[in-house]
Amino acid sequence: MNFAGKVVLITGASSGIGAATAVKFAKYGACLALNGRNADNLKQVAEQCSAAGAAAPTLVIGDVSKEADTERVWQQTLQKYGKLDVLINNAGILESGTIENTSLEQYDRVMNTNLRAIYQLTMLATPELIKTKGNIVNVSSVNGIRSFPGVLAYNISKMGVDQLTRCVALELAAKGVRANCVNPGVTVTNLHKRGGMDETTYQKFLEHSKNTHALGRPGTTDEVANAIAFLASDLASFTTGLSLAVDG
Ligand code: NDP
Repeated sequence: MNFAGKVVLITGASSGIGAATAVKFAKYGACLALNGRNADNLKQVAEQCSAAGAAAPTLVIGDVSKEADTERVWQQTLQKYGKLDVLINNAGILESGTIENTSLEQYDRVMNTNLRAIYQLTMLATPELIKTKGNIVNVSSVNGIRSFPGVLAYNISKMGVDQLTRCVALELAAKGVRANCVNPGVTVTNLHKRGGMDETTYQKFLEHSKNTHALGRPGTTDEVANAIAFLASDLASFTTGLSLAVDG
């Protein structure tokens, strides 16, 4: 896998799947623009990327749920590199709630982060991706393929990500741009705890995931990053509009 000279923008690169993906693309020689809100965490990931052999990544700090921030993240990336080859929309949040207790405020927060931000960045990046015949990889979830109880807004947002991916894939195929998504199963990151799950419940959840995944364990961030890199690479040159389950 070789991304030498390729410009790759990764949102939500300051932890979990996004951080592992950044380090992987660094090993493959990519020029990286890394987004997140937490500058300290992002700097640590950038150091790991440099240690892996990449040129120092550009940090494009910002909250992608905010329109002005996303616009700035995009402009900074373009100003730095002058082109884009791969857009990886990974930033996401998980919040619990059903139709009986998910407020509109909570719904908007999840949708703006998990779906609207992807729409906006894709819209901004499309003209540049057409020039480079680049591609998009969106990080969805198994919740984008089927519904799970208790995470209503998250389910809706991720199903939207899969649909957006397929639509964009169809619309841009003739212009040489591919769009795919990965749909991870339970992956060991901070996502669930940041969503309010306490440590004891999280450990029980991981234990339970041994039964809900045929391979008998949750996934690792590196395993998801491998799938992202594959879809972004020329090895997947005849693959577009795919929802690739990485769910054991
Ligand atoms: P983490 O919480 O470890 O990482 C989430 C990343 O998203 C962080 O880098 C965070 O950065 C960033 N982020 C969140 N909100 C924003 C925002 N508004 N603006 C910019 N960045 C933001 O979780 P994961 O690595 O697990 O999550 C990555 C993706 O994987 C998500 O889309 C998630 O839905 C998906 N996923 C995860 C699964 C799992 O089991 N872990 C399963 C299926 C899908 P910062 O805090 O610096 O803003």
